[in-house]
Amino acid sequence: MRLRHLAMELSKLPPHPQHDVKLEQYATEGDFAARWIAEIIQLGDLDDSTRVVDLGAGNGILGIGCHLAGAASTLLVEIDSDCQHDFTGVEWLIGDVNDWPGEDVDLIIMNPPWGVQTPKADRSFLEVAFNSQAKVIYVLHSSRSTHLEPLAESIGWAGEIVLKGAFRIPATYAHHQSQNDVTEVSVWRFVRD
Ligand code: SAH
Repeated sequence: MRLRHLAMELSKLPPHPQHDVKLEQYATEGDFAARWIAEIIQLGDLDDSTRVVDLGAGNGILGIGCHLAGAASTLLVEIDSDCQHDFTGVEWLIGDVNDWPGEDVDLIIMNPPWGVQTPKADRSFLEVAFNSQAKVIYVLHSSRSTHLEPLAESIGWAGEIVLKGAFRIPATYAHHQSQNDVTEVSVWRFVRD
């Protein structure tokens, strides 16, 4: 699927409700999701044999993007049942990230809570991923974060930043309540060391 077409399809998904501040629901936009998935394909991590799990999936934009790009299977793990919608070909696990057993997976993709509103909210996401059977893990996080690489290394993974961008943070989370704030984000790619 062409990049522009993928971005368009993803932009048509039901929007993330972004209604629960403590769950840190910063949704990825279609254009950025499509660029990210193109990068994953470019790096050789996604083809028709790849089993994908999206942790903290929201409306599923990242996992559904992988599905549309041809993944073998896609599981969307999300605690907020209001995010769930029907999309043929993907499965949902509505529950905590710790409820996912970490099996039957090749690639994990996630834009987890960053731990800004709720300190260390990202910790269980990272631990679940690094202790799973995945071969490769993609994580979007604030570019200001410095804890990802040391944590990954302590569990035997090595990472590098493969994509950068800017995110619009909803006004409910921003310091300036009147308008959307923009923040720099980085996409990390982790493989076993
Ligand atoms: N991946 C989506 C949503 C990112 S926001 C996107 O990129 O657009 C982070 C998501 O993690 C939110 O949808 C939030 O509800 C979910 N979440 C937060 N804590 C969670 C937990 N403990 N278990 C599962 N999902 C969680």
